[in-house]
Amino acid sequence: MEALKQKIRQDGIVLSEQVLKVDAFLNHQIDPLLMQQIGHEFARRFAGQGISKIVTIEASGIAPAVMAGLELGVPVIFARKYQSLTLKGDLYTAKVFSFTKQSESTIAISAKHLGAADHVLLIDDFLANGHAAMALIDLIGQAGASIAGLGVVIEKSFQAGRAELDRQGFRVESLARIGSLEGGRVSFID
Ligand code: 5GP
Repeated sequence: MEALKQKIRQDGIVLSEQVLKVDAFLNHQIDPLLMQQIGHEFARRFAGQGISKIVTIEASGIAPAVMAGLELGVPVIFARKYQSLTLKGDLYTAKVFSFTKQSESTIAISAKHLGAADHVLLIDDFLANGHAAMALIDLIGQAGASIAGLGVVIEKSFQAGRAELDRQGFRVESLARIGSLEGGRVSFID
């Protein structure tokens, strides 16, 4: 997606060879117009797939997921993060290791929002090592729902997540694929 790549080139900050900061438009300050285009692109790529729900993880996945939900006309569920498991009620839970925070948390979705009849599109802002995606896949599996695929705003293809999801047979649609952050520069794959 060219507009996204342009925005990354213009406003993205390479913090290290592993981390790209995009808080000017994606995960702190949000560019609503760009987000709308992102939602439109996810909807275009997953049109006609019978998607009934979008699932993401708080907080940075919410904006692109809501925009995609608006375009596809389906509800958006965000998994909530908890530091410890003092949760009550009927919940699907999974543990996730955070790439940026380097700590583990528990994520949860209420069982009342997701069930075996659902066909889910997963959305997240970044795909790095795939821990967040795997935890969401686990939650969706607990609900007995099926997965249409994963929509990722920015994929860092040099980390392990994409290859692992491919290996497991999931469809992954990434709107910008980064091959390297070496030398303080963002290099896209295609
Ligand atoms: P993974 O679970 O795939 O290792 O990492 C994905 C999660 O970590 C995303 O939900 C995202 O919030 C965060 N993340 C991973 N890499 C980056 C990055 O380079 N920049 C930012 N801002 N967040 C990242």
